[in-house]
Amino acid sequence: TFKAILVSRDENKKQSVAVTEISEADLMEGDVTVSVEATTVNYKDGLAITGKAPVIRRFPLVPGIDFAGTVLASSHPEWKKGDKVILNGWGVGETHHGAYAERARVKGEWLVPLPEGMSPRDAMAVGTAGYTAMLCVMALERHGISPDRGPVVVTGAAGGVGSVAISILSRLGYHIVASTGRTEEESYLRDLGAAEIISRDELSGPAKPLAKERWAGGVDAVGSHTLANVLSMTSYGGAVAACGLAQGMDLPASVAPFILRGVSLLGIDSVMAPKKLRLEAWRRIATELDHAKLAALSTTIGFDGIIDAAHRIMDGTVRGRVVVEM
Ligand code: NAP
Repeated sequence: TFKAILVSRDENKKQSVAVTEISEADLMEGDVTVSVEATTVNYKDGLAITGKAPVIRRFPLVPGIDFAGTVLASSHPEWKKGDKVILNGWGVGETHHGAYAERARVKGEWLVPLPEGMSPRDAMAVGTAGYTAMLCVMALERHGISPDRGPVVVTGAAGGVGSVAISILSRLGYHIVASTGRTEEESYLRDLGAAEIISRDELSGPAKPLAKERWAGGVDAVGSHTLANVLSMTSYGGAVAACGLAQGMDLPASVAPFILRGVSLLGIDSVMAPKKLRLEAWRRIATELDHAKLAALSTTIGFDGIIDAAHRIMDGTVRGRVVVEM
């Protein structure tokens, strides 16, 4: 047997979480068994463990939406024993037993190779939050948002998606406006590459249809009023990549930025993203994300710290990324 976190639900649909022991026989169907060497705590894992949103759709379930590790056994043609792999999403930690166990059994088609030069710990310092930040940057680039077009805004800046987005965008030469509720993190954000820090309060109230143009693009991890304000302040022909809902799932916006300024809203999903996009995102993370910045934005905890970190990420007190070394 091996250690695992298990989320269960009683007859009254009340959710509970426990650290327990399971065996390989308890794992779900899949053609690759992986020794989980590192995992992480994303916002979605916080939602799943605390039960704040119905992320888990099958009980009892091992949560944890991403991991990196080594293949122990495989009947999938692409993978063999000893291969180093990463998994992000695909319903793992939602409908399929996830990362918070020493072993995972998954479909081979869900895995991507751990890029050369990255350790499992590095990969999970990036994690789903960081891989999603890269998907956002790639979407902005596809839309033609380059550094010479003007500043880009990053919301939820001191969080996981935000911290990695700032690190990537600064390396690419963008002038970054970082929006945060934690202005005490100004020096942290400047060290990652932010040029300007604004208070999240500037963006968190009801938005006007159009406001003064402030940026050519943005990466938004917050949604709700914040995304509406970001759109209303995006300059002519600009684009905003939306990936998160830390303020809310609603979008109280008007069509004005779209029809009067030709602004585009780019939707980003990491869970079902096609393999080609994942491989490109991880290739770029491995080659373009500064190792020193990755170290600066991540903290390490052990397996026993996962449940506490899940609560802290819901409270908005986690800075950057949390890596779990198994
Ligand atoms: P995180 O580390 O908790 O970052 C979220 C940040 O949002 C917080 O650090 C905080 O930043 C800000 N924030 C929190 N509550 C807020 C509020 N009420 N109003 C305004 N800002 C608030 O979480 P994460 O793992 O980076 O994930 C960020 C978001 O992206 C989550 O909503 C997550 O579900 C989503 N996400 C989506 C995908 C996808 O596939 N689409 C993938 C990964 C993540 P400051 O303290 O700096 O203000």
